Amino acid sequence: MKFGGTSLRDAAAIRSVCEIVRSRMDSHPVIVVSAHSGVTDRLVGLAESAVASTSAIDDLVERHAKIREELGIREDLHGELFHELQDLCRGIHLVGELSPRSRDYILSFGERLSARTVAAAMTAAGLPASAIDSFDIGVRTDSRFGNARLAPDEGRILAGLSDIRGLPVVTGYIAKDAAGNITTLGRNGSDLSAAYLGNAIDADEIQIWTDVDGVLTADPRVVPSARPIAEMSYDEAAELANHGGKVLHPASLAPAIQKSIPVRVLNTHRPDSAGTLIVKQSDDPNLVVRCIAHKRRVTIVNVESSRMLAQSGFLARIFGCFQRWNISVDMVATSEISVSITLDNTENLDDAVRELEDFATVSVEHDLGLVCVVGHGIKNRLGVPARVLDPLHRTGVVVRMISLGALKVNVSLVVDGADLDRAVRALHDEFFEVGGPEHG
Ligand code: ADP
Ligand code: ASP
Ligand code: MG
Repeated sequence: MKFGGTSLRDAAAIRSVCEIVRSRMDSHPVIVVSAHSGVTDRLVGLAESAVASTSAIDDLVERHAKIREELGIREDLHGELFHELQDLCRGIHLVGELSPRSRDYILSFGERLSARTVAAAMTAAGLPASAIDSFDIGVRTDSRFGNARLAPDEGRILAGLSDIRGLPVVTGYIAKDAAGNITTLGRNGSDLSAAYLGNAIDADEIQIWTDVDGVLTADPRVVPSARPIAEMSYDEAAELANHGGKVLHPASLAPAIQKSIPVRVLNTHRPDSAGTLIVKQSDDPNLVVRCIAHKRRVTIVNVESSRMLAQSGFLARIFGCFQRWNISVDMVATSEISVSITLDNTENLDDAVRELEDFATVSVEHDLGLVCVVGHGIKNRLGVPARVLDPLHRTGVVVRMISLGALKVNVSLVVDGADLDRAVRALHDEFFEVGGPEHG
């Protein structure tokens, strides 16, 4: 059972979490927690400002003190961690430099603090629990600070958990590399921690408890009328997560898929609502589109070379260059002499562009939006691309790039950043409001 930051935002929310867990003790849960909402953002700010000034952590200390007080938890619970954080900030200030390694070290405090709070709250509520830093039960990664990849588990986690007394409350998002440095899994990474632990212990189910009624037909912040999806397949959920659906971390489906463990997304504030069940196969013959996902701040790189006309190896050269600069490519559209590629992350892009310019003309456009129509039914319905393009055309959204994946679980489009919300709403209207999904 993974509880996200919004599910742990204050004492009242943590009390609800205790009651949810109490009602499910029969299934012997392992609890995974995020930092209280907003804490990781605050730690990011702290890390960045520590270089220039001796940072004050008073607001963080107060926020945690208030939660402890309201929950009746002992006052000295976080003392050591806050000392360590203060020392770390001082050290960063002294050396005048923030390495990716020390940044991850600072970011790890959010989860380490909240796991202690939640375990103490559970214990106070009569559910004896232990706070566990995930690395103490063998959660290991490589050393890609800020976006570390989990190492295969090989039975370590099960062995690590077997010594724990009471209900285990494990930190999400953080781990250690082989050298013992603290790493993080990328923002939103607690979902991934939960899926990895669920895989390691052969869980019956991986539950992601959040602040909405499950996976919805679109991001409710853009489409307020978005509705919960009762059931969807792993690959649909993976497409949604990969295309910006913040409700799940993009890599969080893989550990579930590997062992066919169902994933359920549930609402901490409404624990009786059914939520969304994500399983291997969920084919509803009447359903065409399951949901609309979107992503902001997408970059397109256009690479064109008339010299490569009728020559082999053009794509290999381009992708080789992105690989060398460790740039992950998202969507691709090609003709014989030109390629358009979308990226989320523009780190190293200038270097890659310089290299591409040796054999091609390159242009880069920033701040575009990606909208993705997800659903298994797309592969069986010839009319879907027309139904995707028509409402966009009608609402005056200019489509810059299109991709209909080979698996045909999604149709993705790149639009101007300023048109993105309008595009998402137009597509949601088309598939969910006008005819309804079963109308497909
Ligand atoms: P947590 O703190 O529980 O990890 P997140 O903020 O990371 O919560 O993820 C939940 C949020 O994801 C929701 O509040 C919602 O705004 C956003 N979201 C984006 N797309 C979707 C979607 N298709 N379905 C549900 N929520 C979505
Ligand atoms: N606390 C981390 C974040 O805010 C991880 C998570 O919430 O999943 O990104
Ligand atoms: Mg999250």
